[in-house]
Amino acid sequence: MGLYVQKYGGTSVADLERIQDVAKRVSSYFQNGDDVVVILSAMAGVTDNLIDMAKTISDSPDKRELDVLLATGEQTTAALLALTLRSMGYPAMSLLGFQAEVITDCHFGNARILEVGAQRIRDFLKKRTIVVVAGFQGCDPRGNITTLGRGGSDTSAVAIAAALEADICEIYTDVDGIYTADPNVCEKARKIESISYDEMLNMASLGAKVLQIRSVGFAKKFNVPIHVRSSFSEEEGTMVVSEEPAMESLVVSAVTHDKDQARITLKKVPDQPGIAAKIFSPISEGGIVVDMIIQNTRSGGQTDLTFTVPKADFKRALEIEKGVAVDIGAEDVFGDEDIAKVSVIGVGMRNHSGVASLMFNPLAKENINIIMISTSEIRISCIVEEKYTELAVRVLHNSFGLDRED
Ligand code: ASP
Ligand code: MG
Repeated sequence: MGLYVQKYGGTSVADLERIQDVAKRVSSYFQNGDDVVVILSAMAGVTDNLIDMAKTISDSPDKRELDVLLATGEQTTAALLALTLRSMGYPAMSLLGFQAEVITDCHFGNARILEVGAQRIRDFLKKRTIVVVAGFQGCDPRGNITTLGRGGSDTSAVAIAAALEADICEIYTDVDGIYTADPNVCEKARKIESISYDEMLNMASLGAKVLQIRSVGFAKKFNVPIHVRSSFSEEEGTMVVSEEPAMESLVVSAVTHDKDQARITLKKVPDQPGIAAKIFSPISEGGIVVDMIIQNTRSGGQTDLTFTVPKADFKRALEIEKGVAVDIGAEDVFGDEDIAKVSVIGVGMRNHSGVASLMFNPLAKENINIIMISTSEIRISCIVEEKYTELAVRVLHNSFGLDRED
């Protein structure tokens, strides 16, 4: 007998029929003697519709009121599931975020969870009641309703699982787990049985489609095992857990790609103290996140500096740097949007030398030029021309022995 926290995403609660299916699954655990806390998303598409509606009224809707509006999506599904469970004869109660004491900061639209009280959840569980909690929402210390950013009900689920010290947090979604590469790009991709928190965090570009990445940070901090699985089958999915020795038997666990990258180069920058600060401060003040940075040395007291930003911020970043270039006396600024980042990730890299050459040789054989490289303890990323993304993923997936054998 255990305590299960189960989160169901938007497609799993898309209509009353699917909510019935969720109720059946939840009740089967309950009948088995387990305690179940269910965290729900809004029905698929509802959050988008609510945002559209608000934007019809105003181009930049008031953030506090927008959160009051968006939270209704999850309020609806929570009540519908509790009603469904009750109609089947099970004791069930729904709670909104504030009733479950999900306390957040005041950052409307993208609030962070500060703490989870969960006292009422515990009280209900003691009475053998199934508790259904509206995900994606909390309240700030002054009682204002907040939401946790898109996909935030994953984080609600993990935070509540941590507060309750649940045995497991199951994330039910419309895919059957995490794959060694995007199956749409690499048909030999395999489902991963278990993966470490750190690998998952590094897999943001693959994993974020499945889990809100903030939830993984939370799970790591509080050591909550996550089981990502499909709500449309009984099959086991992927476990996201703390690192186990067996995980090191593979050098690389996954190959990811990210086309949402653009690069900016400043040419012939004076090589002096304070220059990097002048280049990057205005970028971060503009709320733009810089990913990779490389600086070359040239003779003659000048360097070239290249960095990457999300595509959506490219034009703005380029404009900012044009101003900076004049200011610091750089010769030229230019950029490129047709690039992609391909990465290999694995905790096994820590104990294997020569992983870099294992990565570069297969790319060279395909004549794929590497534009930038960055490494961390468990990841190597290369920037390549965007048109080579798929080829690079497939080649690396094969060379690191990840291909599925059929
Ligand atoms: N309903 C919210 C969204 O669409 C939260 C979630 O689904 O996790 O982003
Ligand atoms: Mg979601």
